[in-house]
Amino acid sequence: MKQIALYGKGGIGKSTTSANLSAALSLSGYNVLQIGCDPKRDSTRMLMQGRLIPTVMDLVRERGAASVTPADVVYTGFNGIRCVEAGGPEPGVGCAGRGIIATFQLLEKFGTLTGDVIVYDVLGDVVCGGFAMPMREGYAQEVYLVTSGELMSLYAANNICKAVQRLSARPRSMCRLAGVICNAKNLPREEELVAEFARRVNSHLLQYIPRDRTVQLAELDRKTVLEYEPSSEQAQRYRDLAARVMENTRFTIPTPLEIDELESLARQFV
Ligand code: ADP
Ligand code: SF4
Ligand code: MG
Repeated sequence: MKQIALYGKGGIGKSTTSANLSAALSLSGYNVLQIGCDPKRDSTRMLMQGRLIPTVMDLVRERGAASVTPADVVYTGFNGIRCVEAGGPEPGVGCAGRGIIATFQLLEKFGTLTGDVIVYDVLGDVVCGGFAMPMREGYAQEVYLVTSGELMSLYAANNICKAVQRLSARPRSMCRLAGVICNAKNLPREEELVAEFARRVNSHLLQYIPRDRTVQLAELDRKTVLEYEPSSEQAQRYRDLAARVMENTRFTIPTPLEIDELESLARQFV
């Protein structure tokens, strides 16, 4: 079983990429589980015809963990993809990271963490112990960074590299950086910049995904691109991503950049 995590800055396209990746993997015949680990709770929405499914955290809060069943938290979406949303704490109180831990423990108890691929969709603005939890506890072994060529997005990706570097140094750690996904803003020389960033942090650009209107049209129709327009070029990009994820063998310990190195790198590609 492959356990992969997509990390990146808020709004960069992690959930869009995760859902389309899961859809492409599942259409290739893989048994896929997607777990949204962002309190935004919309990771699996396009796999669930636009529905925001109940979150594990909300149910545990309302009923207590002992009264929650697998059927309450695992939903079957597009093409049989199993969907879970961890959810988050009530605004202003609690720790989202602890909620993620509680969610994984519950899913483990239910025997839900199975299949060919588990896709964890995790926010990367705060790389605290809480949000590092999927990689820290050995759940997500392959970390993919989702970034555009914008400096703030690269900055977040670089921070995640710092977390992976630290965690991969721990004894018996299985956590490695598996690659960079450029979810583009269609900036000039963006692919070159992100490829160079990936190289500098001792990784590789796994896939370039252009910014494309089909994504918004699919979203308005409450579908992934794979479901909405499978013959589109954008759908092919997600299929290529899925194939590369499955074939990928380049797992590394990252070498994060200093902030001034990152800035001068970005300046080279304007
Ligand atoms: P995140 O999960 O990182 O917070 P989302 O996946 O929710 O980000 O994406 C934020 C917005 O960006 C969404 O409304 C989505 O439609 C749009 N988006 C993401 N990727 C693309 C893309 N490749 N082309 C066009 N729009 C995109
Ligand atoms: Fe928030 Fe992370 Fe601190 Fe938990 S550990 S309260 S998720 S910043
Ligand atoms: Mg998201």
